[in-house]
Amino acid sequence: ESVVNRIAAGEIIHRPANALKELIENSLDAGATMIKITLKDGGVKLLQIQDNGSGIRHTDLPLLCERFATSKLRDFSDLSKMTTFGFRGEALASISYVSASMSVVSKTKDQDCAYKAYYSSGALAPPKPGQSSAPRQCAGTDGTLISAEDLFFNVPQRRRALKSGADEYNRALDVAAKYAVHYGGRGIGFSCRKAGSNVTDLNTPASATNTTLDAIRMLHGNAVARELIELKPMEDERYAFRCQGWISGANWSSKRSTMLCFINNRLVDCPLLKRSLEALYATLLPKGGHPWIYISLDIRPENVDVNVHPTKKEVHFLDEEEIVEAICVHAQTCLAGANA
Ligand code: ADP
Ligand code: MG
Repeated sequence: ESVVNRIAAGEIIHRPANALKELIENSLDAGATMIKITLKDGGVKLLQIQDNGSGIRHTDLPLLCERFATSKLRDFSDLSKMTTFGFRGEALASISYVSASMSVVSKTKDQDCAYKAYYSSGALAPPKPGQSSAPRQCAGTDGTLISAEDLFFNVPQRRRALKSGADEYNRALDVAAKYAVHYGGRGIGFSCRKAGSNVTDLNTPASATNTTLDAIRMLHGNAVARELIELKPMEDERYAFRCQGWISGANWSSKRSTMLCFINNRLVDCPLLKRSLEALYATLLPKGGHPWIYISLDIRPENVDVNVHPTKKEVHFLDEEEIVEAICVHAQTCLAGANA
């Protein structure tokens, strides 16, 4: 049973960047306004995330990493709604299956102190052999600190598929930077650094006045920000969606496309939207088809099909072709307006 669970976990968590995405989403679900990430060897040796969110009640710690343990599925109808990011209760369980050691330190506002618990293979584990595995009191601030060590030590196929520490770090940093753009205009800050280093490779403040463009400027520099034009907020009644964002203008040139696509505040791959916008740029702009695109799309949660891929990254939704077409028409209008 444990082998089956471990293989299943490896299907959900492919590399540190996947695990990080799940942990970031949990922190966001918990209402965090600051999310701090620390990685060692690209997250393979240590993947750590600290948030100032609601925290986890110490009485909930024992079953935290059980598969399908979730506080987010209140009744069956929620399954089709996806109002929060995850709903399957598999992320923490999976991470505990594929890491040599995982610990959680958490404090809710109404607790006097934090509690720390260790996990392995979906269950509480003793910090050291022979010790009790019961969660114990410790010092800690409001919120949650999760640390996973030695990822994939027991999943050789996954470990072999990993790239260098530097490469895995860049993938993780990329995920964090995308969230930092999307949430930078929503009052939520992010930081990311290598363990033992004082240099933060990414640092956005939890500022109520910062805009998305401010966050883009901080993360990608003014050279990028000043070439972007606004994908003005639009609302479509027929297909019940809203979108907005920032997209590269006429002077942009790059050797590859950059796509930050958030659907209902979740970072996703939407291949059709990406391909369609690339095609639009290729025909429309003299410098061609490798745009920089950030799009935030809101659609009815019940129209999202989140179950197409175990990592929940590639998303499909109802009326996808019509919605993508409408976004492309809108993008064309915004681009034309900026060039006029
Ligand atoms: P899901 O997010 O699908 O519910 P997870 O395995 O990702 O499943 O998380 C399991 C549960 O652990 C969540 O439902 C939530 O109650 C709790 N949890 C996880 N991370 C945090 C966090 N950073 N802050 C507060 N609660 C958390
Ligand atoms: Mg989750």
